[in-house]
Amino acid sequence: MSHSSPLWQALPSAEIDWKDDTPISRNFDDIYFNPGQGLAEARHVYLLGNDIPSRWNRSTCDRFVIGELGFGSGLNFCVTVQAWCAAPEPKPKLHFVSVEGFPMNATDLDRALSRWPELNDIKQSLLARYPDPIPGTHRLAFLDGNITLDLWFGDVAWATTRWAEQDLRVDAWYLDGFAPSKNSSMWSDQVLDNISHCSPKGCTASTFSVAGKVKIPLRERGFNIYKKPGFGRKREQLFALKQRDSKHLKIDATPWHKSSTPNARPEHVAVIGAGLAGSFAAYALANRGIKVSVIDPEGIATQASGNAQGVVYCRIPKRHAPLGDFGVLAFRYATQLYRDLLSNKVLREGVDASLCGMLHTFPRDTDSELVLNVHKLPNLARIVDEHEARTISGIALSQPMLHFPQSGWIAPKPLCQALLSHPNIELIKDGFENLTFTDSRLHLKCNSQNVLADCVVFAAGTNTKDLVANALLPTKAIRGQTTQIPAINTITSALCNEGYIAPAVGGQHCIGATFDLDDADTSPRSASDQENLEKLDAFLAIKNRQVLGHRVAFRCTTPDYLPIVGPVPNNDAMQDLYQSLQFDGKRIIPEACPMQPGIFVLTGLGSRGLTYGPLAGELLASLLNQEPLPLANELIRALSPARFGIRQLKKRS
Ligand code: SAM
Repeated sequence: MSHSSPLWQALPSAEIDWKDDTPISRNFDDIYFNPGQGLAEARHVYLLGNDIPSRWNRSTCDRFVIGELGFGSGLNFCVTVQAWCAAPEPKPKLHFVSVEGFPMNATDLDRALSRWPELNDIKQSLLARYPDPIPGTHRLAFLDGNITLDLWFGDVAWATTRWAEQDLRVDAWYLDGFAPSKNSSMWSDQVLDNISHCSPKGCTASTFSVAGKVKIPLRERGFNIYKKPGFGRKREQLFALKQRDSKHLKIDATPWHKSSTPNARPEHVAVIGAGLAGSFAAYALANRGIKVSVIDPEGIATQASGNAQGVVYCRIPKRHAPLGDFGVLAFRYATQLYRDLLSNKVLREGVDASLCGMLHTFPRDTDSELVLNVHKLPNLARIVDEHEARTISGIALSQPMLHFPQSGWIAPKPLCQALLSHPNIELIKDGFENLTFTDSRLHLKCNSQNVLADCVVFAAGTNTKDLVANALLPTKAIRGQTTQIPAINTITSALCNEGYIAPAVGGQHCIGATFDLDDADTSPRSASDQENLEKLDAFLAIKNRQVLGHRVAFRCTTPDYLPIVGPVPNNDAMQDLYQSLQFDGKRIIPEACPMQPGIFVLTGLGSRGLTYGPLAGELLASLLNQEPLPLANELIRALSPARFGIRQLKKRS
């Protein structure tokens, strides 16, 4: 991690004054919405201002994308969800993409929305998912995935530039970033260029302001401008209609992570591998109505995903770097999914999983940045003294700990079984041999049958690199042995330092795992059990436990410890196209990458499958299905399978 990279910091919270129950921003000296009439105003200016309900009615698309500048209290979002629920079938799924640089805390958000009892259910489900001010992108799913909210926590210029880089296609904009006189950042040329880039012909925008600073730049960017009757005492509001597609993108990096020939949206996907990676990929695809065939000769979760228990792990980063940034976003997403699976009884509490919290050691010379961040991220983590740590965990601890209340343990195999029980998924117990591409379809030859699919996702852990032809996937298998020990019945939360222990299941704890580099030994060793027991003793003074069982598995890790997610380049063609990067690594080559048609990878989850897998699966499905993406470009590139070939080229420069 470079020490010149910026410090990782929680975002500044919105500073709010209240006039009755109307929030007023101290940062911008402006109201969030009309006092007393916010709901009617939001409906008038944004929802009806963009003519949204009747567009849903007429729509033949399966997804309607709303882009918003300024999430604020989420009132516009809630009003839109309320209208969507009331809209007749058939209607497109709703995808709401919003940016917020100064997130309201949950208490303020609750108060701001409380005056409208009709929004209560929506507010409650928003609050149940509402993230702490963690910088980056947060995907929140509502109503069985029919409504997706992508909350981009960061500055508007940062977010909209990423949207433009990703060629986000928006159907309607809510331009709600305070009046231009109070907040010029929302109306800068850069932001408006980005908005225009993301606005195809027929896209609309509405805002309460008819100021020249809004009208003129939108007109210059290809929108026709109309004035509509405003809300309440406001005479007019603005409605804009995009006349033509237009590109405003300045390419400032070689788009080697993007495909030069994007795949069509698939109807049928084959997933090779039925461990955590394959299960998360299949589940995310199946949730989109895509038929998925999961192919594995050994069945569900037989390799590294077959350990008895794993902990949903998280660290708070010190500086911005892809590993820490992705880790904390993935943790938030994963715990949301597990909470939903437990509350829907797809996972059985205490048998398959428990979000009982996790205590983690942290350095005693705690740097103040961590302490400052933790104060601003109360749902993510808290520092607890040794007494409270004991109350939480049921075991004596000799030092303060970081408590992650949303974390817990999961039994990976029942999790995979639950994910793969989705009605759109079939499990084929067969060994994949090879594939050919004919007539725009992939023909997968397996040991005893052939499978036809539009796309294939290789998610076979350490075997993946041998299954994908002409790709550079430098993964390593790292041996890990877990050890089963008898229950210590007082343990009530997960505990981590170098190893982990979680509350017992079926009278046993699963502890471990060892991290044995360059070690291909598949047999359990008593030395590895001893190592696990010694670590437990050093951490929790738990001595001389009997070994009830053990298991060896091989994690699939990458050189940068980040997963590999995305389309697979044709390595030879990629090296040809980008060969000049070997002479000048900073050169910008505007062409996207020649990818292998229909071929994707999700692997390299290392020891963090339970944490990284859900968001990795969601990213993969969003890429495959041509949807708005749940991560910013810097992280999509950091996870891309193409990164290794590019690094190899640049190394020569
Ligand atoms: N749509 C909101 C609602 O439904 O409650 C109200 C939005 S409020 C009028 C404007 C929002 O823009 C505020 O929440 C503010 O924090 C946010 N904002 C202002 N400047 C920003 C910037 N440069 N980057 C990101 N967000 C910003």
